[in-house]
Amino acid sequence: MNRRELEKIKQKALEEHIPIIMDETLEVMEKYLTQIRPEKILEIGTAVGYSAMCFTKFLSENGRIDTIERDGERIQEAKENIKKVGLEDKICIYEGDAVEILPSLNEKYDAVFIDAAKGKYPFFLKQALRMIKSHGIIFADNILYKGYVLSDYNKHKQRTAVRNLREYIKEVSENPILETEILEVGDGLAISKRK
Ligand code: SAH
Ligand code: MG
Repeated sequence: MNRRELEKIKQKALEEHIPIIMDETLEVMEKYLTQIRPEKILEIGTAVGYSAMCFTKFLSENGRIDTIERDGERIQEAKENIKKVGLEDKICIYEGDAVEILPSLNEKYDAVFIDAAKGKYPFFLKQALRMIKSHGIIFADNILYKGYVLSDYNKHKQRTAVRNLREYIKEVSENPILETEILEVGDGLAISKRK
């Protein structure tokens, strides 16, 4: 992988206010991903491909990442970025709404990274649970959503997102096949290990 190219892609995404994974979040995930050495990762929310490209370094030798994005312009940019960095054989982009694409997938994954529409997190979780391998890990980024999720804030336009993020936390916490930690790193990261 071309590291200098990756750094340029990161800077451009930051300048354009694309919500790419935060360094501290990636650092935490690194600890888990280096331990499990995933063969297959599923990502929901590609944006311009930055996090997927970062994750490739944790893959096992023949590992691959499937990632889903619905925004046409971002898909285009992600494809160009992945080519520039030379990771075409490691990252496969599914183009379209994850709500439609996920039910059609029938793979097993060692890790799932949920990083898309917050109002859909409970649905994404259901789909992730269907495809996660035993001892796999489901990560959910932005789970604390600027702190709204833990405060009594429930007005305005973020209400649906907050309600669904809370539901996600409740479900992963109560599900007996999962062991979950909620970390305040970045915008909040839920880490759920499947037993
Ligand atoms: N994972 C990326 C950032 C993703 S930002 C990174 O860290 O580099 C969230 C992305 O999810 C946006 O590009 C948005 O278009 C996409 N998205 C949101 N809801 C979606 C859905 N239902 N299906 C597919 N993509 C979705
Ligand atoms: Mg995010």
